[in-house]
Order: sequence, then structure tokens, then C-alpha cells
Amino acid sequence: MTQFMHFIDGAFTAGTSGKTFECRSPHNGALIGLAAEGGRAEVDAAVQAARAAMRGPWGRMSVEERSDLMRAVADGITRRFDDFVAAEMADTGQPRKMMEHAFIPRGAANFKIFADVVKNVATESFQMPTPDGRGALNYAIRKPKGVIGVICPWNAPLLLMTWKVAPALACGNAVIVKPSEETPGTATLLGEVMNEVGVPRGVYNVVHGFGPNSAGGFLTEHAGVDAITFTGETRTGTAIMKAAAEGLRDVSFELGGKNSAIVFADADMDVTLEAIGRSAFLNCGQVCLGTERVFVERPLFERFVAALKERAEALKPGGPEDAGTSFGPLISQEHREKVLSYYARAVADGATVVTGGGVPEMPEELAGGNWVQPTIWTGLADDSAAVNEEIFGPCCHVRPFDTEDEVIGLANDTEYGLSASIFTTDLSCAHRMAEAIDVGITWINSWFLRDLRTPFGGSKHSGIGREGGVHSLEFYTELRNVCVKL
Ligand code: NAD
Repeated sequence: MTQFMHFIDGAFTAGTSGKTFECRSPHNGALIGLAAEGGRAEVDAAVQAARAAMRGPWGRMSVEERSDLMRAVADGITRRFDDFVAAEMADTGQPRKMMEHAFIPRGAANFKIFADVVKNVATESFQMPTPDGRGALNYAIRKPKGVIGVICPWNAPLLLMTWKVAPALACGNAVIVKPSEETPGTATLLGEVMNEVGVPRGVYNVVHGFGPNSAGGFLTEHAGVDAITFTGETRTGTAIMKAAAEGLRDVSFELGGKNSAIVFADADMDVTLEAIGRSAFLNCGQVCLGTERVFVERPLFERFVAALKERAEALKPGGPEDAGTSFGPLISQEHREKVLSYYARAVADGATVVTGGGVPEMPEELAGGNWVQPTIWTGLADDSAAVNEEIFGPCCHVRPFDTEDEVIGLANDTEYGLSASIFTTDLSCAHRMAEAIDVGITWINSWFLRDLRTPFGGSKHSGIGREGGVHSLEFYTELRNVCVKL
């Protein structure tokens, strides 16, 4: 059984709270580890270590040296690839091939991209006239913000955590990561890599625990934390923003979504089905950018529903090591209950269940896992819960539409604004839709195609700020202006 320790000031420690919590396998419910639970003392120790690191050699390191270290971290993850795959697979229960092809390589890629970004983004400079005719020159410099609290979810633990840690460190900050209590593995392992490649102690810290009245809450309340970056539920973001108001700390939020896919009758069916088949069911539907609302132009509706049903029914649930597995479990029993409650609610609200709606029959060794069936509904009213609330499970509602104006109204009728996917071969229509749908990220004829230099984030209740490329630098640095009288 694995022991997940805190990583504070370059060393693994159980802390002083004496508390631990259990970590269970999503695919069979077995106890796989015990994690140390941090309290105020552990958070305080991590904050002090991070502040000391900022005053030490780390705070004086050149951009080039930091950039080289970030590349070394990426290489360190790649060197320990199998360990990261095993840790993430054990925590999330998702198939090995997904870890190997996407989640772990992307964790390493995050360090590489920000190693480049910090070296290559220029700051602005303005010359200005003065009454004496000599003029003045303004130029801007970027300084790290200080100690950053990084609060992470469980759905793609390494990828989402490094998406914040990599730019924060590349910009010269120190971080304290509070991983999700469901997935402590890869954040802990990254501590080993940080030591292996020579990242100074105190620069990267990890404190395990829960949210309110535990490590997460204590971290966001700590006066020694200069800014907080968070990915998770919108409701949690509200609580964190309240904590951050004390001391006027800056926040960057990647929150929930209720994302649309809009399919016009002229869409390429193969492209559309491949994309929506993934966006609705990948990672057992636990992707913030996932599609839970599909709008299909009426002439294509019946054909589309039948074809998506076929895709859903072809998914094979199974153990993460089984090469035939294409569909994993949900993260926890608690989340499974939430998803199944939406399955029941949809039926009570009059949905036609096209496929799924329940729990798959699993072999005995997997029977204790958090399994649910991929599920497609039609026929729900626009104001029903399953059409409006983020479920975060492998399910979607498919609804027909007749006009562009109608579907724009339907897609925008949500408190969320994270992402949308538009499927059409009419270029003008695609551009019109991209302008009209109120989201931070729009894909045309694709889904989850990510260039890490582009702005990433949601509007409305889906987030505050943008991360990616230069936009991450906006959050992780203070931009200072220097005015030189000539
Ligand atoms: P969550 O909000 O329940 O938990 C996220 C993290 O916050 C955990 O580490 C948790 O311990 C901590 N936390 C909870 N309450 C806290 C508090 N009061 N103070 C400080 N920390 C606290 O989210 P989750 O269930 O882990 O993740 C799923 C959610 O994340 C979904 O809503 C999903 O849409 C969202 N998400 C968004 C993005 C994005 O980029 N927009 C990406 C992935 C996931």
C-alpha cells in the first residue's frame, strides 16, 4: 500500500497532524494507499519554505537558468514515465493508453512550453515627449508574484496541476500544491523529480488534504500566499474567492462547464461522430470541456442519434491494464451517486433513454468499482436539470434545432461559458457561430485540439482569467513599468 507524504522544503514528511486518509481504487474500490492529511501547521511550514525559497538562490536565478530547469523537469517526468503512468492510473482508474498518449506526456509538455514562453515573450516600451524636449523612455519588466497556492481537481491530475505549476515556476514563483484528495499520486511523485533535477528546496511544495477546514481552506486563507490558482467546481471557486478577498490576493479560476456541441445538417458525419464520441464519453465524461448538450439540425437528428448510440454501446468498460478497455470508471462512489441521481432525474423528467442510464454488469473483480453506463437522452425539456446542471459524467442530451438563431439562443441559455464545438462544412456559418456562442474556447469540426500558446479559460460562471502562453505570464507575474527621464 502506498504512503502519500507531503513534500515540504524539498523533503517528504508525514507532518505533525497525525492524520491520514484512505485512497481507494476507482475500478474496484480496493484500498490502495494512505495519504497524510495536512492541517494549519503543514500549510504554514510549506508557506514558510516557499517564502524562504523566494529569498534564496531561486529568487536570483536568471530566466535562462529557470527555463533550463523547467526543461529538466519535463525530461525528468519522461524518464520516470512508467511511474507517472502507474500512479495516475491507480488514482483515476482510467485506461493505460489514455495515460500514455495524453495525460502524462501533456504533463511534461507543460514544462517545455513555458520554458520557451518565458524566454520569448517581449514586454512593451514607449517613448514619450517631455516639456524640456529631451523625452522619456518607458519599459516594462516582469517580476514573479511570489508564493502561489495551486488547488487542483482529480479529473486529469498531473496535466491540470502542471498547467499551473509550470508557468508559475517558469516565471520565478514558488508554489504550494494542494492536490485533490482523490488523486494524491502524481503531485507527490513530481516532488521526487524536482529533487532529482535540482529545483531548489521550497520552490515546489505539496500538502495533501481536503477543502474546507483542511489543507485547501487553510492554504487559501494563509496571508503568506500571494495569489491563488484553482481548477474545480464553480461553487468551490466562490468559496476560494471569498478567502482570497482577505489581503486582496489575485485569483485565476478554471471552473465548471455545461458545454454544447452544435451539429449542422451539412456536417461531415465521421468527423462529428468521432469528436462528439470523445467529448461526451472520454475519461468517463469527467472532462471540464466535455459535451453534455448536443444540438443537431433536424434533418440529421435521427441519423445522428442512432450513430452516437452505436458509438456509446461500442465502449468497453474494464480494468485500466486491459488493452481492450476503452471506458473507465468514475472517480469515487460519491461522484457515482451524483451521476446516477441525474440518470434517475432525467427519467423522472420524461427523458427517452437512447442508451445506458444505469450501471454496467462487471466481472467480480471489478464489481466494487464506480461504474456507470455511457448514456444518451432525448426529449428533455430545455429547463430540466440534466440539460442545465453540470453532471460531469459520461452522458449527453441530444435535441433537434431548426435555425441558427434558435440554436444560438439554446446554447447560450446557461450560466456556464467554457467551451463549444461547431460541426459544419459551411465556413461562414462556422465563423458566425464562433462569434455568437458565449464561451472562452470554440472548436470548429474538432474537440480538445490544444495549442498550449492559445488563451484557455471560461467566461460567465466557468472561470476568471485566461491561462496558456503569454496569458499565463499575465497571472504569474507582476508587470512593472520603469520610466526613465532622458
Ligand atoms: P472541487 O471543486 O470539488 O475540488 C477541487 C479542489 O478544491 C480539491 O483539491 C478540493 O480539495 C479543493 N477544495 C474544495 N473546497 C475547497 C475550499 N473551500 N477551499 C479550498 N480548497 C477547496 O472540484 P473536483 O470535483 O475536484 O473537480 C471537478 C470540477 O472541476 C468540475 O466542476 C469540472 O468542470 C471542474 N474542472 C474545470 C476545468 C477547467 O479548466 N475549467 C478543468 C478540470 C475540471
